[in-house]
Amino acid sequence: MRPFTYAAPQSLQEALDLLAKANGTVRPLVGGTDLIDQLRQRRKTADVVLDIKRIPEMHRLEYVAREGLHVGAAVSCADTAAFAAVRELYPAIRASCLLVGSVQIQNRASIAGNVCNSAPSADTVPPLVTLDARAAIVGPRGRREVPLEEFFTGPGQNVLRGDELLLEIVVPPPAPHSSNHYLRFIPRNEMDIAVAGVSSLVALRPRGRICARARIALAAVAPTPVRAKAAEAVLEGHVVTSELIEAAAEKAVEACRPITDVRGSAEYRKELVKVLTRRTLRHCMASLGQPLES
Ligand SMILES: Cc1cc2nc3c(=O)[nH]c(=O)nc-3n(C[C@H](O)[C@H](O)[C@H](O)COP(=O)(O)OP(=O)(O)OC[C@H]3O[C@@H](n4cnc5c(N)ncnc54)[C@H](O)[C@@H]3O)c2cc1C
Repeated sequence: MRPFTYAAPQSLQEALDLLAKANGTVRPLVGGTDLIDQLRQRRKTADVVLDIKRIPEMHRLEYVAREGLHVGAAVSCADTAAFAAVRELYPAIRASCLLVGSVQIQNRASIAGNVCNSAPSADTVPPLVTLDARAAIVGPRGRREVPLEEFFTGPGQNVLRGDELLLEIVVPPPAPHSSNHYLRFIPRNEMDIAVAGVSSLVALRPRGRICARARIALAAVAPTPVRAKAAEAVLEGHVVTSELIEAAAEKAVEACRPITDVRGSAEYRKELVKVLTRRTLRHCMASLGQPLES
């Protein structure tokens, strides 16, 4: 590993000053579960590693009525999953946090790190996209918010400028009569990267099975996480049946631009998207008290 300077500012302003004035590349650090390995393997370089865990604002974990959930950048996946509001209102966020690596990894890793690392396979991202989450970013020009769906620009790339930090993820309150689920496929039971992942969200009109809103977001099948908008359109405004779910699962494949690699071929990934879309949608309907026949 190339030598670097380690800095652990105690305030947001101190961190932003450091980012503005530093010579060379500054890499923010939360859990280090991506960054340290990337520095070791020389896949990334850093002149300064900026540990943000001593900045109080980065530790916000709060649910505010009307605003929703605030998850500060330094909050671990384990703490997020254990938070009462997440357990009660955001089952897919909880499920995705508990899929990241192992218990040890979840204790260190953050949603912010998962988001900023910007791997197409990042597990916490699809549920956040289906929930219309926003990335709150701070920099010398103040605070700006970017819908998470627009945050990613390519594998390992995002809209963050060199003098900015991700402050927190903000997730609106879930819609009434809605359910959200995330599933991924990996070749073994844990400690692997998704070959494909799908999060589905279904909101029903009060009483009945008419879909008021559908969101489907895919992982590991395109250069960035993507929404399957054509599949969502199949469901919205219609009574959700097994046949409709089947049609949506077929349509979800249209959003994929997968690669073939050691984990699976492009065709295999498309097939997985179909299966996972079907399963997540069926799960949503069941948890809304509207199970579908086979
Ligand atoms: C054994 C193992 C298993 C894993 N399993 C999974 C898995 O199942 N699913 C999965 O999705 N990932 C997995 N990962 C990857 C990793 O654990 C996650 O991406 C994790 O969420 C990263 O969080 P972190 O806090 O450790 O990030 P860090 O390594 O600290 O940071 C990651 C990147 O984000 C940048 N960054 C961090 N915070 C900020 C900020 N506030 N502002 C701007 N930039 C920032 C860093 O500079 C770095 O480039 C695994 C990793 C390991 C080592």
